[in-house]
Amino acid sequence: MKITIIFPARDFEVGKAMMPVMPLAPTLLAALTPEGHEVSLVDMIYGDRVDYESDCELAAITVRTPLAVAAYGIADNFRARGKTVILGGPHIFAFPEEAKQHASAVAIGEAEDLWTVILKDVQAGQLKDYYVCGPYDTESLNGSVYHQRQRPNLKNLPMMRRDLLPRDRYMMDSIFTTRGCPNHCRFCPVTPIFGPKIRHRPINEVVEEVGTLRKHYFNVDDSVFGHPQLVDQPEENKYYFDLYKQLAGLSPKRLWGGAGGLSAVNYKDGRKIIELAAESGLCSIAAGLESISVAGQKQSGAWRKLHFTSPDTFEIQNMKENIRIIQELGIEIMGFFVIGWDEDAPETYWRTLEFCDEMKIIPFILTLTPMPGSQIYDEYLKQGRIFTELSWDHYGGDSIVFKHPTMDPEEMFELNAQVLMQGYNMGRILARTFNTMKNRFSLSVGLNSFFTQLGMRKGFQERYKRKS
Ligand code: SF4
Repeated sequence: MKITIIFPARDFEVGKAMMPVMPLAPTLLAALTPEGHEVSLVDMIYGDRVDYESDCELAAITVRTPLAVAAYGIADNFRARGKTVILGGPHIFAFPEEAKQHASAVAIGEAEDLWTVILKDVQAGQLKDYYVCGPYDTESLNGSVYHQRQRPNLKNLPMMRRDLLPRDRYMMDSIFTTRGCPNHCRFCPVTPIFGPKIRHRPINEVVEEVGTLRKHYFNVDDSVFGHPQLVDQPEENKYYFDLYKQLAGLSPKRLWGGAGGLSAVNYKDGRKIIELAAESGLCSIAAGLESISVAGQKQSGAWRKLHFTSPDTFEIQNMKENIRIIQELGIEIMGFFVIGWDEDAPETYWRTLEFCDEMKIIPFILTLTPMPGSQIYDEYLKQGRIFTELSWDHYGGDSIVFKHPTMDPEEMFELNAQVLMQGYNMGRILARTFNTMKNRFSLSVGLNSFFTQLGMRKGFQERYKRKS
């Protein structure tokens, strides 16, 4: 069969500026495709166009919430031409029946154990409506269902098909080593989608794959330092010890970035994991700090991943110390903050930027978007606080989609735009770049920091210009 796998985008200029990383989902799906099929990939973030006149027989499309409308449009177009369309991705998890209206079949959950079943059923003319992998309730699905309750074990995965995309156009390759997150942050759908238990890829397979990557890559795991709930499990910590020791031994050694929680600093093995990660080439992390206030930590549920025993024990001083320790190991921090918790006020935007300035962390400050599949979305929907008249196009982090108790949407939008424009002025970008180079004297690291920040600046400028 001729198969095209599509990673949709609306504003490819914004996406290209802010996501210089090769997408993992399409390269993984292509790798899972058995021999005998012909696969092509379309990454719309980098401007690839969908060829509706092609002779492909099956289109597989990733659906993320902000791009759901775009993905459905592509799906409808293919179906109007008689093609088989399979939709999968995180948005489907929350709205499988909405997605089914635009697809021949919908995949809910991880693809590893579903994709070959789907392809066989297409060829046999026995396609079901839903293909589900994971311990989800399927009772309410209206249609035929294939259900495998167990999540994939992530062993013996094939090498991602990075060869199907022009690799040079991305700043970084991407890879994953684990799935699952035990943190249950209330604004995030990751724990419900991937489960609370961490599943690991075998170390030898990860190291072999990293050996094929270019000199700079990004690990898309939820936390490359492990998780606070698992600090007392020696086997869990050993996985990271062994992985980073082996990665440090690769020649040439590569630089890498990932997402990591600050909590690891608070326990002995965690510090060791961070040190080994730095030695293996880790030079930047995206850290979900979420809020600088106790109330924000409480409402977001982020206090768990920051290793506090309850939200009331959150201390900004501890957060600062942990940031400094990680930075001094030569790891740059991009701080992700969400503003719009009920007790936040206009000055919260500015105080958060001041915090980033003081700590010399790259500010990723966005107003809350309650994402479908998260606890906050369900809660706000019940409370009538979601602006349900807005389409999914507004869920990209640059629109206000919910009612805040004291701030109105225009005010939040304007404040967010101002804070980001100031946060990415050239003086601040250079100051942060120099600080990064002070902690790890490396031209590659400095250039990576500088160009990543320029990309963020361009992306934010485009986003807010488009909306204002
Ligand atoms: S925000 Fe990060 S730590 Fe929290 S649930 Fe999502 S992936 Fe896990």
